[in-house]
Amino acid sequence: MHKKILFVDRDGVIVVEDQVDTFEKIRYIPGVFGGLKRLVDSNRFHIVLVSNQDGVGTPSFPLEDFEPVHDRIIETLRGEGIIFDEEHIDFSLPADDCPGRKPGTGMLSSYLDGSWNLEHSVVIGDRLTDVELAKNIGCKAVWLAPKSDEAKLPGDLRDTCILVSDRWGEIASFLLDEPHLAPRTAEVTRTTRETTITLSLSLDGGGLGKIHTRIPFFDHMLDQIRRHSGCDLSLHADGDLMIDEHHTVEDVGIALGEAFRIALGEKRGINRYGFEVLTMDEVKAEVALDFSNRPAFVYDVPIAREYIGTFPTEMVEHFFKSFSDSARCNLHMKVSTGNAHHQVEGLFKAFARAVRQAIHRNPYSDELPSTKGVL
Ligand SMILES: [Mg+2]
Repeated sequence: MHKKILFVDRDGVIVVEDQVDTFEKIRYIPGVFGGLKRLVDSNRFHIVLVSNQDGVGTPSFPLEDFEPVHDRIIETLRGEGIIFDEEHIDFSLPADDCPGRKPGTGMLSSYLDGSWNLEHSVVIGDRLTDVELAKNIGCKAVWLAPKSDEAKLPGDLRDTCILVSDRWGEIASFLLDEPHLAPRTAEVTRTTRETTITLSLSLDGGGLGKIHTRIPFFDHMLDQIRRHSGCDLSLHADGDLMIDEHHTVEDVGIALGEAFRIALGEKRGINRYGFEVLTMDEVKAEVALDFSNRPAFVYDVPIAREYIGTFPTEMVEHFFKSFSDSARCNLHMKVSTGNAHHQVEGLFKAFARAVRQAIHRNPYSDELPSTKGVL
């Protein structure tokens, strides 16, 4: 059987688009190593790099600036087991109208001899000319662009473009037909008269992201959720703090719960239940939760102090209640007496670790963790 080819663009797909002529300009697209590695390891594709590098060899982009930097990119990928079977790079300028320049197929004519499974081959590129290239060689394209750009796809390229995504993990899962391994993500924007919140969550991340609510202690606690749950979480909240913290904390709890509910989707293959007991010096914090699609909240947290820094401790309960309501989960929380900072931080950490356990997905299972058949 003829093998499929994966034509991979370089700039905007592997490294951030630029005239990459110094080592400082090498910036990798997030997720490219993991995504490409899965595709290479599948051994289902002949892997081919296809790139236009405008004007290499001219005074504005000398070959000796291009080569060592390109070699470094290839060497770094190779170190991760990502090895291209072939490389085709066109050095012409747009005005040269060179047949090898994408979307021209000049560089790829050797693949058009009938010995490849072009119909199921795929170009991955960040420009519409990459999608056109795919059309011109009779294969399919993944357009690496934000989902919101899908509307910009011209009508005559719709049959060629099989996916618009700027997430490498999703692209790999899609091309390998393994949707159960696609990253579970959610983007939530919540605007009320009191707050504006934008939030991006990936349950299958590495604890990355930036938190900014303009309430320092709350940022510190949300950072605990991000780090100890292992989720990627970026959150920006702009609330009416001139009144007080109430609306911001409540709405962040609602938005975060909503993001978990969306990202968990059908909940196939997950643990569903999570529990954690952890200590923080003299304090013992206990959390049990169940992403059951039923909100229930039990809170046994005796905090003696009214404030930690500028943060009212009564808002801890309000935050987790809001989360439980909007994520539709059971959430039981208990903390021993002790230092108030330890109590609250211990509780956030225990919550994060319980979440981490509950959302853990078995890659070999497609089961719903419920005898009812729905969660
Ligand atoms: Mg490109």
